[in-house]
Amino acid sequence: MAHNVLIIGSGPAGLTAALYTARANLQPLLIEGLEAGGQLMLTTMVENFPGHSDGVMGPDLMAQMRAQAAKFGTEIIQGNVAGIDLSRRPFAVKTSEAEYRAQTLIIATGASARLLGLPSERTLMGHGVSTCATCDGYFFRGQEIAVVGGGDSAMEEAVFLTRFASKVTLVHRRDTLRASKIMQDKARANPKIAWQLDSEVEDIKDTGKGEVTSMILRHNKSGARTEVPVTGVFVAIGHTPNTALFRGQMALDQNGYINTHDGTKTSVPGVFACGDVQDHIYRQAITAAGSGCMAALDAEHFLENVPEHLASV
Ligand code: NAP
Repeated sequence: MAHNVLIIGSGPAGLTAALYTARANLQPLLIEGLEAGGQLMLTTMVENFPGHSDGVMGPDLMAQMRAQAAKFGTEIIQGNVAGIDLSRRPFAVKTSEAEYRAQTLIIATGASARLLGLPSERTLMGHGVSTCATCDGYFFRGQEIAVVGGGDSAMEEAVFLTRFASKVTLVHRRDTLRASKIMQDKARANPKIAWQLDSEVEDIKDTGKGEVTSMILRHNKSGARTEVPVTGVFVAIGHTPNTALFRGQMALDQNGYINTHDGTKTSVPGVFACGDVQDHIYRQAITAAGSGCMAALDAEHFLENVPEHLASV
């Protein structure tokens, strides 16, 4: 039997799509994926999700969303999708355990922030290390912090963070920036931004204390090491959309994000995409949740009005 709706991904987008399709009595099936809960599982306090005026811990918010989706009848599978066939409906979705078929598919596989790959970065994530200036900048009022990266995101985050921080050190591995000229000019004109070019973060201290106290920089040309006192490190070296499964089966943009149009429609009728997998601009939990709701309504509408030429496919 084919499911009405199969949702892939369990961040704010996927769980909101589940909540809405469950309450529409579509009995959705949701496959959580390897990083269940998505990027909010890597955060601590979330203060910008409406309705939580005292803030909420990221993992707690995701646990609440999961419980709410389950309460209304979402069937949640703890697994990872290994293969997918979008060439005909019902669509086929395989995990290592089973194969499912679905009349509509909602893709909410998200994007992963690229990381430097340092063990200390992983340990201190959410404790001074962050991948989201919009989310966490507020916690660094009057403090000295760093942003890593040389692209538009790094420039934008550095400028944004000067609203809170007393000093922002921008660390980039080369001596030329990748960012557009207009963004570079904005950052360069900001007196609160200090520049450490040709430099890489070699380590972040202090894992023993469980908080960020400094970073060790290595100059790429001279090899010299310096310790720079900071209380926060924002890693802004780009994101990778989780779309490897869909490559060649639907339209992606040049950076691998799913192309959507007219709400959450993709190039394949009956397949909808929501959250960061199709959004490289806003990337917020609340915008992901909002687009998850849109995908649910789009899927519901599709099921009510399956075009005749697709009905028997
Ligand atoms: P990006 O353009 O891919 O830049 C990533 C930066 O991180 C690069 O400078 C890169 O260095 C550096 N980097 C990558 N891996 C690294 C590593 N392991 N260690 C140290 N540094 C590393 O990513 P983005 O800045 O997130 O931008 C993504 C897209 O969104 C771009 O098209 C951008 O224009 C767009 N965007 C636009 C705006 C805006 O217009 N307001 C704002 C944000 C983003 P190298 O330069 O040496 O490769």
